[in-house]
Amino acid sequence: SEIIAKYEVMERVGSGAYADVYRGRRLSDGLTVALKEIHDYQSAFREIDALELLQGFPNVIVLHEYFWRDDEDAVLVLEFLRTDLATVIADAAKANQPLPAGQLKRWMIQILSGVDACHRIMVLHRDLKPSNLLISENGLLKIADFGQARILTEPGFDASNNHEEYSRDINNKDTSTNTHGGNATCTTSDIDREDEEKELGCFTSCVGTRWFRAPELLYGSRDYGLEVDLWSLGCIFAELLTLRPLFPGAADIDQISRIIGVLGNLDESIWVGCSKLPDYGIISFSKVENPSGIEACLPNRSPDEVALVKRLVCYDPSKRATAMELIHDKYFNEEPLPVPVSELPVPL
Ligand code: ADP
Repeated sequence: SEIIAKYEVMERVGSGAYADVYRGRRLSDGLTVALKEIHDYQSAFREIDALELLQGFPNVIVLHEYFWRDDEDAVLVLEFLRTDLATVIADAAKANQPLPAGQLKRWMIQILSGVDACHRIMVLHRDLKPSNLLISENGLLKIADFGQARILTEPGFDASNNHEEYSRDINNKDTSTNTHGGNATCTTSDIDREDEEKELGCFTSCVGTRWFRAPELLYGSRDYGLEVDLWSLGCIFAELLTLRPLFPGAADIDQISRIIGVLGNLDESIWVGCSKLPDYGIISFSKVENPSGIEACLPNRSPDEVALVKRLVCYDPSKRATAMELIHDKYFNEEPLPVPVSELPVPL
């Protein structure tokens, strides 16, 4: 096939729920690439759709080209990135060496700039976590794995994935779409499709993702927005600061109960409207008298760092700071200043 004519396939470097990733070599010039073979139409379609919109942003992975093999399989030719943020964190944890603040800030700024790029063009990633933040040998961090991404659409806005919506709506009893005025959210048919996916069982990706999942998702929200990525971002930042996951839930209920242990019970006093979440009445927890607070999760970290995480890890999605707001946070303009990308140590 065409791809075989252009690339030499080398060893397998990873595999996920729906994909195998190989190292490859472009025959024309010897460039090392990653060949990601995706075995699921929906996930291949989403990844291609989102990545095409996101080309040209420095903190998003480069998609060189892609091939559809038949109706189900696609092969994405991506820039090859040697390592990821999960490895940076694991190495530092193993050495029992906290990341120096100047390095931390440079990683965070790169993550924020990537997420800001996504959100500016209304791409919701939905699976942000350290292992999806890939790193090049010169320290550039790139957001990858858009297999669960959604392009949010405002009513009347012509989304590039509309034809996908259409084919689904035919079989859908509830054809109501966005009822939230100007706020872009997932359409109902979008979320129903996601529930179908869950029933079909996506064990690995769900497990890996739970620790970074926003409370509105844990309570079954169907009209969530970009803020779910901001919660994940807060969990990632906390992990960079402490080298340990913030909320390592063993199951979905345990996930919520860990969050409640830190932030307190979820009720209308803390987030107006939360009692309308689909699973709010179904899952109820006994009163936590003394929630520990985020501070307790970030021992030995500065008040500025605690404040940064608090701006993201809060129940009410509308209160979470956006990526753009955080890029301008004074934390990043204070000593110690972020080190240049070229000074970031990259694991071998
Ligand atoms: P999935 O969507 O199935 O989780 P990922 O995109 O996360 O697939 O890829 C699975 C693994 O393949 C990653 O954890 C990583 O080790 C490796 N990988 C993915 N993309 C690249 C890339 N561009 N360069 C190098 N390795 C990659």
